[in-house]
Amino acid sequence: MYYAEIGFGISTGFLLFLFWQGFDVVPMLFVITLIIAAVYLNHAKLAKNSFAKKEAKSSASTLIGFDDIGGQEVAKQELREALEFIKDATRITHLGIRPLKGVLLNGPPGTGKTLLAKAAAQFTDSVFFSVSGSEFVEMYVGVGAKRVRQLFEQAKKLAKSQHKESAVLFIDELDVVGGKRGQTTSNIEYDQTLNELLVQMDGLSFDDSVRILVIGATNRIDMLDPALLRPGRFDRQVKVDLPDKKGRLHILALHTKNKPLAKNVSLDSIAANTFGFSGSHLESLTNEAAIMALREEQTLITADHFQCAIDKIIMGEKLDRVPNQMEKHRIAVHEVGHALLSELTRPGSVATINIASRSNALGYVRQTPLDDTYLYTTKVLTDKIAVALAGAVAEEIQLGNRSTGAASDFKHATELAKQIIHSGISTLGIVSPEDLSKELLHVTLTSIIKETEKYVHNILVDQQDLLEKISTLLLDKECINGDELRDIINITP
Ligand code: ATP
Repeated sequence: MYYAEIGFGISTGFLLFLFWQGFDVVPMLFVITLIIAAVYLNHAKLAKNSFAKKEAKSSASTLIGFDDIGGQEVAKQELREALEFIKDATRITHLGIRPLKGVLLNGPPGTGKTLLAKAAAQFTDSVFFSVSGSEFVEMYVGVGAKRVRQLFEQAKKLAKSQHKESAVLFIDELDVVGGKRGQTTSNIEYDQTLNELLVQMDGLSFDDSVRILVIGATNRIDMLDPALLRPGRFDRQVKVDLPDKKGRLHILALHTKNKPLAKNVSLDSIAANTFGFSGSHLESLTNEAAIMALREEQTLITADHFQCAIDKIIMGEKLDRVPNQMEKHRIAVHEVGHALLSELTRPGSVATINIASRSNALGYVRQTPLDDTYLYTTKVLTDKIAVALAGAVAEEIQLGNRSTGAASDFKHATELAKQIIHSGISTLGIVSPEDLSKELLHVTLTSIIKETEKYVHNILVDQQDLLEKISTLLLDKECINGDELRDIINITP
């Protein structure tokens, strides 16, 4: 809150009022100035102390090795290579190689950047210091720059006290402190903090009694000031991406090592079902599954617990809010529409249909990705549009009208149609997205959606009995898994 600013406004107004009434305001002005100075100094001191405490805590955190990090083979390899420079200082100086001062880890949240930095500290037998970019910056000018200096000093002190020759200084959210200077969102305090960081990095040398390696992490590399990325500072960049299937399997294996799993749990199938999950999602998944087993007072974690945990992570926590019976029926018809079309166009593609209200949806169908896919053909994208539209079409066929429940499906369908157009695989051929007129985009997009809608209608109108039968069962059970669905519609994937 802006208490200081509000207080300042009120006191100025009050003083002006007194002055206007003929009072002598000079003594009051003097007292107020003293109070403001005391508050400022006290705040700066508090901020300094809390920062120092935080550093001490983070330096004590336990280190881990590269083997404790799942997947990320390329990132680990690149980082290890860069660290060899630090380990083999004599050879490096002999060959006249410029010492490495900074490594930048760039990737989405929860992919293991902090873990990699900790592993780097262990690999190089260094002390580990961690701080987040947002902790540097206070509203008081000069505090951030001072903290940067303190950080480098304390890292050296700690290394000396532990008889180590090097320290890894990990700065998470580097974009907060290292954003481009002189931007409208930036201010003098941010600029001074970044300048100090550059000065400190430039001052690092191989001859120092404690060598410091700065590891920065960000998921907004485009926001960073170019000065940080120029050679001699963060000149090694390591991409830390979302894990592929093999990586997910490795991460799941690491996080289930200490958990009792039932025989029916296949980590391989969980890895296949979690495309797009980060390492922290996977850690949370194994934890949620264990909590579910505990709630049911079971001693082993089963495949069902993992399925429910995946649903929870994708769709959010179950809600107490229960829709009325008519709405529930509509939701069931809608979801069965999605599932039937998915199964009829790609047998084996449905993992679960669920109509338990969750924070992110009233009901949902989770599909099994066949494999990690990074490229899509027009057919695959049109099939995805068909599945997205099938909920509303099923409502229309079974209940005679549509509802607002399909709004997010339509949004998804139009995004997919746009992807077809912008990728140059629509009837328009190759287009320049910036030069494409809004009208032509609209006409082409509508024609893709309308054609697919007709296709979906033709399929589902012949399946009215199945739609009714499965939605009645779903209303009763709340959740049907893919195998049960395939049994009913007699499909073998
Ligand atoms: P952020 O960008 O949000 O700071 P991050 O990339 O630094 O995230 P971490 O803090 O390293 O992510 O990971 C968070 C947690 O997720 C870890 O403590 C760990 O439990 C789990 N995790 C993430 N990636 C991996 C991985 N590759 N192997 C094992 N566990 C992982």
